Amino acid sequence: PLPVVAIVGRPNVGKSTLVNRIIGRREAVVEDVPGVTRDRVTYEASWRGRRFTLVDTGGWDPDATGMGLRIAEQAQVAAELADVIVFVVDATVGVTDADEAVGAVLRRTGKPVILAANKADNPQLELESSVLWSLGLGEPRPVSALHGRGSGDLLDTVLDLL
Ligand code: GDP
Ligand code: MG
Repeated sequence: PLPVVAIVGRPNVGKSTLVNRIIGRREAVVEDVPGVTRDRVTYEASWRGRRFTLVDTGGWDPDATGMGLRIAEQAQVAAELADVIVFVVDATVGVTDADEAVGAVLRRTGKPVILAANKADNPQLELESSVLWSLGLGEPRPVSALHGRGSGDLLDTVLDLL
């Protein structure tokens, strides 16, 4: 079986956009409405000739009560099936309570976690992404899934940990 890379994070941070960027197709459902990804969806992907399975997570109802808890549960499930976890945070927003909750779950898993500071569309936002060090998950990796900025470096980091 191929190694598994799971993409986790709260709704609307750009997980599905990042998946589309990595697989090079517009197949993962991207919506302006938070939480549109209905379930965990898996794709086969490759980078520099290394193949891996990519898992896009989501599937919670944004109107449900206790959404923060459900995101944390989703992160837990993803972490269990993944070899490497890409934790996506919105660099234009900074750290939210939900991000803290997911971060705490991921730190406890002991799995390798890459912290992706998405929506870092320009150098200023790249600089500001350093506030994400506070999540305690190491160096934030600025990326713009929408424009492709930083995505190659992010994938190189994933390969290093596979
Ligand atoms: P998900 O809920 O985490 O899967 O997020 P989506 O991939 O559905 O994206 C949510 C919204 O963020 C959409 O409007 C995307 O176009 C937007 N988005 C995703 N990545 C970026 C990015 O790198 N920069 C900007 N400016 N917007 C982005
Ligand atoms: Mg999605």
